[in-house]
Amino acid sequence: MKVLIDGEDFDSGDHYEVKNPYDGELVDTVPICFRQDVDRAIDAANRAKKELQDMSAKEVSNNLYSAYEELESRSEELAKLIVLEAGKPIKQAIGELNRSCETLKFAAEEAKRIYGESVPIDATGSVDERFLAFTKKVPLGVVGAITPFNYPVNLALHKIAPAIAAKNAVVVKPSTEAPLAALKLVEIIDNHFPNGVINSVTGYGSEVGDALVVSEGIDKISFTGSIATGLFISSRAGMKKLTLELGGNDPLVVLEDADIEKAVSAAVSGAFLFSGQVCIGVKRIILDNKIADEFIDLFVKEASKLKMGNPMDESTDIGPLINENASINVETAVNNAIKDGAELILGGNRKDCFYEPTILDGVNMSMDLVANETFGPVAPIIRVDRIDEAIKVANDTRYGLQAGVFTENVHSALRCANEIDAGSVLINKESTFRTDAMPFGGFKSSGMGKEGIKYAVEDMCKFKLIAFNCR
Ligand code: NAD
Repeated sequence: MKVLIDGEDFDSGDHYEVKNPYDGELVDTVPICFRQDVDRAIDAANRAKKELQDMSAKEVSNNLYSAYEELESRSEELAKLIVLEAGKPIKQAIGELNRSCETLKFAAEEAKRIYGESVPIDATGSVDERFLAFTKKVPLGVVGAITPFNYPVNLALHKIAPAIAAKNAVVVKPSTEAPLAALKLVEIIDNHFPNGVINSVTGYGSEVGDALVVSEGIDKISFTGSIATGLFISSRAGMKKLTLELGGNDPLVVLEDADIEKAVSAAVSGAFLFSGQVCIGVKRIILDNKIADEFIDLFVKEASKLKMGNPMDESTDIGPLINENASINVETAVNNAIKDGAELILGGNRKDCFYEPTILDGVNMSMDLVANETFGPVAPIIRVDRIDEAIKVANDTRYGLQAGVFTENVHSALRCANEIDAGSVLINKESTFRTDAMPFGGFKSSGMGKEGIKYAVEDMCKFKLIAFNCR
């Protein structure tokens, strides 16, 4: 596959191979771009932005809407590519595409709602004149979108769609491991906009991603990925606007009065969706001792039903991890936790890129497995006594993306909602829940800025004050 610069296929002449993590087969090759190729894409975007900004809000909205219709008609093609390049089970890849269609449609609607407000600037002290003043949200210019492997289409769209809705041109750098479906997405969007409004570059993060981050032709970097890369980007971006959607270590807190069946089903889907390779996956299960044994019995029974296998098979729940290094990292974190006293009660085996759904009891926050984000199908259980300790453990981390709390007691629910330090606290729902109507973004080291279409569109604009002296 090639990248797209200024409406045309571009090939740097150098390539790398994208391999299927399920069987190691070659899926396709993509260009290894260099800094001069990235500059070419940035120049194309800077030339195209004027044409985009001259379009009416209605035209931009209509074009995003027609891109949505094309994406919907090609959903199966893109979903299958995600299965091949990322090992995501097909039913989850189709879920990602359904969600992506909604993201694009939401952005088409939001493109018509970019309002400013009137400003009473003569409300301050010594102003003798009378002003008519208002703010106008104006586009930033060109947005660099850098995305990870786990939701290659949806997370790219969370940047592309609001950026274009706010009339910014875009250069997309998709994940190195899983770039193919995102490249198809860029082609689809390009079919509905003038050349250069959207461009793609592939290659290595340290070269291609960094070239976007340091370029003076880029006005904003919207990044989703690990904390380590996010921190590095923030040290290189200079005065650019930055949105950083980073790692998570989300707790599922189950209090003594929870509905255990509902909490268990939330734990199974939250901890094992896409083999745990989800930023808002359930990464710590905090159980009140009073209900811990009952919860664990049912949890082990339900998790044992998950089917591991070929991700192209519709009955598969658990596919491979993105590569063998990733599965080795998970294996190491689990084995170290066991050495430090955790008890393995389900799974714990690795074969190539596959790692079994795994449950560990007796985990504590000093273990690396939960002190850092473990990106794999592992459910570590931390037992606590009562709500005070549950909240303390939930907050005992540098992460703060989302949190889920199960309780039937409204006072406990509100207390957790108030005291857990995370971007979202969901009561009787697992942290893995996200819709496009929600503001989304972490506290603490989990990020900076908000996504969610309405909030992301706002973040893709700058505010200008216009004041008119009426006297
Ligand atoms: P990663 O940080 O390794 O890579 C993300 C992107 O950054 C890739 O495109 C990569 O090529 C690029 N990159 C790498 N080095 C760079 C550099 N020096 N300059 C610019 N770009 C560079 O992340 P990953 O392994 O692909 O994804 C997993 C991580 O993403 C996990 O930590 C997960 O929690 C996080 N994530 C967060 C969210 C969220 O919304 N908060 C969503 C999904 C994933």
